[in-house]
Amino acid sequence: MNSNEIDIHKELKKYFGFSQFKGLQEQVVTSLLKKQNTFVIMPTGGGKSLCYQLPALIQEGTAVVVSPLIALMKNQVDAIRSLSSENGIAHVLNSSLTKTEIAQVKKDITSGLTKLLYVAPESLTKEENVTFLKSVPISFVAIDEAHCISEWGHDFRPEYRNLKNIIKQIGDVPVIGLTATATPKVQEDILKNLDMANAVTFKASFNRPNLFYEVRTKTKNVESDIIRFIRQHKGKSGVIYCLSRKKVEAIAEVLKVNGISAVPYHAGLDAKTRAKHQDMFLMEDVEVVVATIAFGMGIDKPDVRFVIHHDIPKSLESYYQETGRAGRDGGEGHCLAYYSYKDVEKLEKFMSGKPVAEQEIGFALLQEVVAYAETSMSRRKFLLHYFGEEFDSETGEGGDMDDNVKNPKTKVEAKNEVVKLLEVVRDTKHLYKSKEIVFTLIGRVNAVIKAHRTDSQSFFGCGAEHDEKYWMALLRQILVEGYLSKDIETYGIVKITQKGLDFIENPTSFMMSEDHEYTDADDETVVA
Ligand code: ADP
Repeated sequence: MNSNEIDIHKELKKYFGFSQFKGLQEQVVTSLLKKQNTFVIMPTGGGKSLCYQLPALIQEGTAVVVSPLIALMKNQVDAIRSLSSENGIAHVLNSSLTKTEIAQVKKDITSGLTKLLYVAPESLTKEENVTFLKSVPISFVAIDEAHCISEWGHDFRPEYRNLKNIIKQIGDVPVIGLTATATPKVQEDILKNLDMANAVTFKASFNRPNLFYEVRTKTKNVESDIIRFIRQHKGKSGVIYCLSRKKVEAIAEVLKVNGISAVPYHAGLDAKTRAKHQDMFLMEDVEVVVATIAFGMGIDKPDVRFVIHHDIPKSLESYYQETGRAGRDGGEGHCLAYYSYKDVEKLEKFMSGKPVAEQEIGFALLQEVVAYAETSMSRRKFLLHYFGEEFDSETGEGGDMDDNVKNPKTKVEAKNEVVKLLEVVRDTKHLYKSKEIVFTLIGRVNAVIKAHRTDSQSFFGCGAEHDEKYWMALLRQILVEGYLSKDIETYGIVKITQKGLDFIENPTSFMMSEDHEYTDADDETVVA
C-alpha cells in the first residue's frame, strides 16, 4: 500500500476519534508509512503509542510491538480492542498463554485480522515464535521503551540486546524505536544496538513549563518541612518519593498522625493493598501517596499538584520521570527535592556491591544529580541541557519557574576565570574528568594527576585564588553553556568545544553564580 493513498487524518478520526495529531505524531506516522526506520523520543504523555498503533491499523500485515511489561501490554491491547469490534485485532503473545490461546493468536495473524501483536522480549527469543513470525506478513517492528537496550538508561534489560538479530531474522521490515529517555548517550546506544543509524529521528521538547523545580537542604527537620508544605497545598494531590520501604511507611505514618490523609505504596505490600492505595489516590480518598519508585508506571492522574523527593533519586532521568507525574493537565506542579550529601554517600555505598562497570555508570549518573542540586543556575536549563536540549531561561517557556531563577544569587564577572579553565582543559589534552581539572586549577595532587605528571606543568595551580567549589560551579556552568562537553562514554571526561576554543581567542563577559552551600543532614541551619 502506498502511504500517499491514505488519508491519515481520516484514519485518525475513524480509529481514535481525534481530529488532530499531537506534536510530532503526524510526521512519525508518515515516516513509518514510508517504511523508514524511525526513532521517536517524546516525554511521557506525549502520545507515543499512537505513533505505531495508527500505522499498524491501516497497513496490511501485523505489527510486532516489543514491550517490557506484561501489565502495560495488556492495557494497550484492551485499549486497541475497544476501538474495534474484533477482539483479534490485537493480541499479546507470551508464555502465560495456553496452547489453545496460542493457536487462536496464530490463526488471527495468519488470516490477516491481527494488526498489533504485543510481545515481551523474552518471548521473541523463542525459536518457534521467530519461525512463525518469519512465515507471516509483518508490517513493521516497534520497540517500545527502547531505552531498556542501554545500560545508561534507567531500566536496562539484557533481553533487549538480542532484538537486533531477531528482527533481522523476521525479515526486512522497518523498525520504530520509542522512548521517553532523552539523554544523548541513551539515544546513541539505541540507534547502535538496534542497528538503525539511518533512522529518521523525531524528538519532542522535554520542557514542562508548568512544573516548578525547587531543591531544599535536607535537615533533621525534613518531616515538619514536608508537613508545612502539604498544609500550604491543602486539598491537593501529591506524591512523596522515598528510597526505602521503611522510610515510606514511616513518613506515611507521620503524615497521618499530623492529620494528613496519606497511604504508603511499595513493592513490599501485597498486590491487593497496593491496588487499594492506588485507587484511593486516583479517587481522591487520600491526598498523598508516599511511595518508592514502584509507584508511577502507568499512573495517569492528571491533577497531581506536587511531587516531593524525600531522598534524591539515583539519576536525573528518574527525577524527570518522577516529577513528570505532576501537572499532567497543564496546571500547577511543584517539584520539591530534599538534598543532603549524606544521601549521596548512601547511594554510593549501595552501589559499591555492584560490578565495576555498573558502579562507574551509577556514579556518573549520580554526579549529575549532585550537580543539579548544587547549581544556582536555572534548574530547567540544567535539566534540559542534560537531555541534549538548549533552553534560554530568559525567553523560554517556564523560564522563571524554579527557586534559582526566582531568588537568584549575585552573579560575578568570571571572564578571565573561564579562559583559565578552558586553557587547562585544552592543555591537559582531554585526559581528565571535572575533579582532576579543578584539582589542576587549585594545585592539588591526586594519583591520577601524579600519573600524568600534570603537577609539574607550569599551569598547575594557576587558579589557586579560588577554591574547589568555585571552580566546580564555573565548570558546570560553562558545560551547560556549551564551551565544554562531557563524554559520558568515558564516565565523564571533559573536552573543550569549538565554542570554547573561540572564547579563548575572543573572551567576552561571563557572569557566574557560585553553587549553593549545603550543610549536612544533621544540621538544622539552611545556608543557601
Ligand atoms: P506516552 O506513551 O507517550 O506516554 P500515550 O500514548 O499514553 O503517551 O498518550 C498520552 C495521552 O495522550 C493518552 O491519553 C492519549 O489518548 C492522548 N493522545 C494521544 N494522541 C492524541 C491526539 N492526537 N489527540 C488527543 N489526545 C491524544
